[in-house]
Amino acid sequence: MEILDHMGTEGHEQLVVVSDKGAGLKAIIAIHDTTLGPAAGGTRMWPYESEEEAIWDALRLSRAMTYKSAAADLPLGGGKAVIIADSHTDKTEALLRGFGRFVDTLGGRYLTTTDVGTTGRDLEYVKQETDYVLGLPTTAGGSGDTSVMTGLGIYMGMRACAREVWGSDSLKDKTVAMQGFGKVATHTAHHLIKENARLVVTDVYPDALDRARELGLEVVEPDSIYDVDCDIFSPCALGGVLNVDTIHRLKCRMVVGGANNQLMTDADGEELDRRGILYGPDYIVNSGGIINVEAELGSQYNPDRAREKTERIYEIVQRVIAISKREGIPTSKAADRLAEDRLASVRGIKPLYRRRHSRVPIA
Ligand code: NAD
Repeated sequence: MEILDHMGTEGHEQLVVVSDKGAGLKAIIAIHDTTLGPAAGGTRMWPYESEEEAIWDALRLSRAMTYKSAAADLPLGGGKAVIIADSHTDKTEALLRGFGRFVDTLGGRYLTTTDVGTTGRDLEYVKQETDYVLGLPTTAGGSGDTSVMTGLGIYMGMRACAREVWGSDSLKDKTVAMQGFGKVATHTAHHLIKENARLVVTDVYPDALDRARELGLEVVEPDSIYDVDCDIFSPCALGGVLNVDTIHRLKCRMVVGGANNQLMTDADGEELDRRGILYGPDYIVNSGGIINVEAELGSQYNPDRAREKTERIYEIVQRVIAISKREGIPTSKAADRLAEDRLASVRGIKPLYRRRHSRVPIA
């Protein structure tokens, strides 16, 4: 499909193609929807094989951010930036500051933060050129590592799903199989360990497995994680892991994890539902990160506010489950419905005329 046709169909507002040869910068900024507030979403740095691939990724990811923020009840729209570069070899001050200048030209329509390939330290360079940056390190006055709240949100999502499946939100003695034991999984695990859940984990990175063993957790080979006899399967590594090859292997009552885009296709959400496995939609349960950075907006970052809003993921998951039952649709679809209903209701607010700027210069 042509890009502009696709943008029209999916409701994208704007696509900005950015180039600064001197800074070695090639980037795309996609703004999907600003109904609820400024478009927010991280900057991904990735060595895309083609400009087209980068554009499609920015369009897809910006739309996903609209849904994530809408469902999390945040006053934010959806946006995303991608920089076509290798984060291990191409990252320079000039590139990051050059990128910041382009973010600034959007006048606050797009707020950036970290994503794959970018860190809080990179944002400090971006911040030198624009105020439209969220998620700086705490030492630079920002909200710091998002994975702390993301981990808390996943735990709240697990508890809400547990209440639905077992009639109690206690996770004591439940077995959780975690795929990936990076930042998000580790913070989720701390909550689960405190509640005396049993954890079985895997990772492809030996250091991550050493950390798991130090916490006394059982470790399995990466491919065996799908076969673990467990109560909860928790994908915390890659997207697309719930698919025709894996779902039939799962021996759990629910899937709740941090990875983005866990379902390979919509049909995989339906298949989980058909098998009686409750799916805690990824972008709902992993929204603690965006909730955390939003708590910087308009005032100094307040961790208590971020925590309280992240804990509300419990109620949001309950609302998704209620929609799913009422409409007879899988929770993956119910999550979309929740986000779309909020967008539609805010779009319905009467657009009152307000005079914004005086035409007469003030002496
Ligand atoms: P991370 O890099 O710290 O952890 C990911 C871990 O997964 C790594 O230890 C890696 O070795 C492991 N891994 C990769 N491939 C694997 C495989 N095939 N099998 C098993 N393990 C594998 O990243 P993170 O910040 O913990 O993020 C994890 C997921 O959560 C990602 O999908 C990310 O997009 C998503 N997410 C993160 C945040 C956040 O706040 N960090 C917010 C929302 C969503």
